[in-house]
Amino acid sequence: MSPFIPNFIAGKVVESQSSRLTPVFNPATGEQCKQVKLSTAAEVEAAIAVAHAAYPDWAQQSPLRRARILFKFKTLLEAHFDELAKLITAEHGKIYSDSIGELTRGLEVVEFATGIPHLLKGEFSANVGRGIDTHSVMQPLGVVAGITPFNFPAMVPMWMFPIALACGNTFILKPSEKDPSLSIRLAELLKQAGLPDGVFNVVQGDKEAVDVLLRDPRIQAVSFVGSTPIAQYIYETGSAHGKRVQALGGAKNHALIMPDADIEMTANALLGAAFGAAGERCMALSVAVTTDDKVADALVRNLQPKVEALRIGPGILPEGQKENDMGPLISKAHLEKVSGYIDQGVEAGASLVVDGRNYRVAGHENGYFIGGTLFDHVTPEMRIYQEEIFGPVLCVVRAKDYDGAVRLINAHQYGNGSAIFTADGDAARQYSQEVQAGMVGINVPIPVPMAFHCFGGWKSSVFGPLNAYGPDGVRFYTRMKTITSRWPSHHLREQGAAFSMPTL
Ligand code: NAD
Repeated sequence: MSPFIPNFIAGKVVESQSSRLTPVFNPATGEQCKQVKLSTAAEVEAAIAVAHAAYPDWAQQSPLRRARILFKFKTLLEAHFDELAKLITAEHGKIYSDSIGELTRGLEVVEFATGIPHLLKGEFSANVGRGIDTHSVMQPLGVVAGITPFNFPAMVPMWMFPIALACGNTFILKPSEKDPSLSIRLAELLKQAGLPDGVFNVVQGDKEAVDVLLRDPRIQAVSFVGSTPIAQYIYETGSAHGKRVQALGGAKNHALIMPDADIEMTANALLGAAFGAAGERCMALSVAVTTDDKVADALVRNLQPKVEALRIGPGILPEGQKENDMGPLISKAHLEKVSGYIDQGVEAGASLVVDGRNYRVAGHENGYFIGGTLFDHVTPEMRIYQEEIFGPVLCVVRAKDYDGAVRLINAHQYGNGSAIFTADGDAARQYSQEVQAGMVGINVPIPVPMAFHCFGGWKSSVFGPLNAYGPDGVRFYTRMKTITSRWPSHHLREQGAAFSMPTL
């Protein structure tokens, strides 16, 4: 029997008593490697009680003390990078260097959060009226929850908890049930760094666990990252139960290729951005829009041999062998879904330039592998254009001109990120002003902001006003209190009582 992945509650690994189980696979082999018990409502409630009890003391710690624990956590993370990256690759499938990349982007948020004494300084105005001062403080919320997707088992939780904890909240993480092991190692390293028991807890589970987090009155805020229908459900249900919610959803990111773009540079950028992590990234560039048929022809000609030559296989190879470009998809069901989209694209009349279906990796015949796929002449009515495929499928759409391309891109339901490839600064500037997307790259294919900026899309890619991490992260995990004060004085004694609205 494969081992169980536990919960982590009150500073200890705890085995769930749930009778509902789900298998965890190694996507490169298709073998079940572990299993996870889906926590019961009562177990989630017990974890909330632990986090609730740990909150008052943690909130009272000085921000500097909390930051020092995060400094230690950062050092421990760095020391365990290799082990953690192997764990990500084992359950997610992405290549080892990409797992290191994901850990690094998470680490950057930890580094940002170590600056919390500075970030929580608040505001002060002296003498807003005679002898009166006003200051604002940012106080933690209480127990907050994070619900995270399979595609970044380390980075997305680290978008959330370092800042939440630094601000003085206690945290409950409900990771994806598809690759849940990493969450437990993060919890153990936090404990090793000196985090008091009960401040960070992990409950494994599915909708049953999530629904408790969305409804329990002790949970003050919920951060979610995942697909759009679930993001919308989380936002609406959490908000209806009086919680602060940020819910980041799916994406279909467009690249606009201008006639003056350097085709070789653009093709290489698209290659990494469309096929890296097998396209299972919310910032993957999955649509390339051209404004000139000659450019489209040149781009497709350049891309075709490169897509055909993608090195696809397990995320970790024996030492000495050159790393693959991409690994498998997360599950058999997802492999079938992505293949189904390719079938649909063909039926809808798109030109299939490179067909990734039925891809076989020698020695890994049961792995969830699919080849890189390139479609040309994709049109806006096609489902392969409208929906998020979340696989290594790049669609080329041929617009007539710049205005038509921008209209098309802005009409799409999703608006997470977008990129323009051009040598023309004026066109780039105009595009970055006009495009309806939350993150824009200029000759940068995956414009994921650094930890000291914020991450978030527009339109159906996000629900809730505040973005993830950066200054918005601090705003999300705190509430502001504004204090107006004056002290007994001679002047005040002379004033007597006032009955009209004070105007200072
Ligand atoms: P998902 O929506 O299926 O699952 C996300 C989380 O929600 C998981 O923890 C899961 O257990 C939980 N969940 C699933 N169904 C639920 C339900 N009915 N009720 C309550 N909770 C439920 O997403 P996924 O497949 O794990 O991740 C891929 C998706 O995440 C893609 O759409 C991708 O674009 C998106 N994503 C977005 C961002 C972003 O920043 N916008 C980042 C990463 C991933």
